[in-house]
Amino acid sequence: MEVNRFGNASIASIACSVHSVQRLLRLRDGQRRYRRNDATDATTLQTQRRYRRNDAMDAMTLQTLYLKQIEVGQMANYVYLIGSTKTKDVAVVDPAWEIDRIVELARADEMRITHILATHTHPDHVGGKLYGLQIQGIAELLERVDAKVVVHRAEAGHLTPLAGSNIMRVDHGDTLNLGDLTMTMIHTPGHTPGSQCFLVQNRLFSGDTLFIGSCGRVDLPGSSPDQMYDSLTNRLMKLDDKTVLLPGHNYAAGRTSSSIGEERKQNPCVQSRSLAEFLRTVGYV
Ligand SMILES: [Zn+2]
Repeated sequence: MEVNRFGNASIASIACSVHSVQRLLRLRDGQRRYRRNDATDATTLQTQRRYRRNDAMDAMTLQTLYLKQIEVGQMANYVYLIGSTKTKDVAVVDPAWEIDRIVELARADEMRITHILATHTHPDHVGGKLYGLQIQGIAELLERVDAKVVVHRAEAGHLTPLAGSNIMRVDHGDTLNLGDLTMTMIHTPGHTPGSQCFLVQNRLFSGDTLFIGSCGRVDLPGSSPDQMYDSLTNRLMKLDDKTVLLPGHNYAAGRTSSSIGEERKQNPCVQSRSLAEFLRTVGYV
C-alpha cells in the first residue's frame, strides 16, 4: 500500500464523507486504476441517460452539452467542466489541485472558461491551506482566465480576498445562463452553511452534500446535521429519479456517477424517516 503523506490518522480527519474513511483507505490502492478514465468525455455522458420525452428544448440543448469529470488531488476530488459546444462557454465546478491540467483540458477542446462555480469553500474544492499543504484553486485559475466566481452568499466572504470583484453572490433558486444552458442553484446547507448544488440539464453537481452511497460530513466547523437532513430530504430528494448525480469526490470505488433514484433506494443518508433516525445513521448521536 502506498504511503500517503497525510498518514492514516490525518486522512480520517479530513475525509469529507461520513462514510468515507474506509473508502478513502481502499481508494488509495485503487486510485491509479481509475485515474486513466477520469476525464469522462462529453459524448459518453451524453449517451448515458435519456431525457424527458416531450421536451424538445432539452433534446436540442442536449446536443450541445459539454461535460467532463476530472479526478484531482490526494482527496479524490472531482472537478467538472460544464458548458455548451455551441457557444464554447464553459464553467468549472470546484477548481482545485491541478489548475494547469484543468485549463489545458478546456483549451484542448477550444472551450472558453467564463464561470467558476463553488459548491462550497473548503480548500480541497476552491484552493487554500489544508494540513500544511497549499492547494491550488480559484486564485490560481483567475491568474489564467477572466471568469465570474459563483458562490453562495453565506460563504462569499471566504472567497472575496481571492476573487475580488469577480464574485457573484447567489442564493437558492437563482439561475445562471451559460451559453445556451440554464443552471439553477440549490442551496443545501449542512456540510457547510453555504453549500449549494448546481442543476443543469437533469444533472446535479452535488459537491459534498450528497455522495454515491453516503453524504457529506456534518461534524466540521459550520456544519449542521439538522440542516443536512432538511437539505437532503426537502431539496435533493424532491428531484426527479432520473436526475444524474455528479458528486464532489470519488468515494464510490470507481462508480463515477449515480442518479437520485438509485440513491433513494440505496443510500442510507436519504432513507431516514426522521431527524433522529438520520442523526443515528450518520453517527452523530
Ligand atoms: Zn467539504
